[in-house]
Amino acid sequence: MKIDVLRLKEDKTEHFQESLTPAEFDLDNSEVKYKGNICLSTDATKEKQMLFTKTHFTATAEFICSRCLKEYVSKIERDFNIDYPLVEAGQFIDVTKNIREEIILDYPIKFLCKPDCRGLCPKCGKDLNKEKCNCQMKTQFTE
Ligand SMILES: [Zn+2]
Ligand SMILES: [Zn+2]
Repeated sequence: MKIDVLRLKEDKTEHFQESLTPAEFDLDNSEVKYKGNICLSTDATKEKQMLFTKTHFTATAEFICSRCLKEYVSKIERDFNIDYPLVEAGQFIDVTKNIREEIILDYPIKFLCKPDCRGLCPKCGKDLNKEKCNCQMKTQFTE
């Protein structure tokens, strides 16, 4: 989503909306696969020498749980406020590029299907969310 700064009126908030395919947004990695479109909804306000943007990001993605290796689908909703000093910026400000960076920075170190996922037994491989095993191993994972 490129915002044409010259076309914005001073002190007036304008709304921008964009829907991108996962390929366009280029966010997939081995643990995250986006499903369906990624929606960006941005309010932009130009004030003196600054552009203030508030963006609401919505997407649905498939993750692989770091503990039990199960795939699970989850919705991602985030709000980002990014301000741009206009002195250094050109005529167009590409909000999408910055949101993409923010989303990647915002990824957790581990993806979990649920916060208390018990994972797989390291010895027999049983899914400890579903059944108990007799290995008597310490199955508590540390972050
Ligand atoms: Zn899990
Ligand atoms: Zn076991």
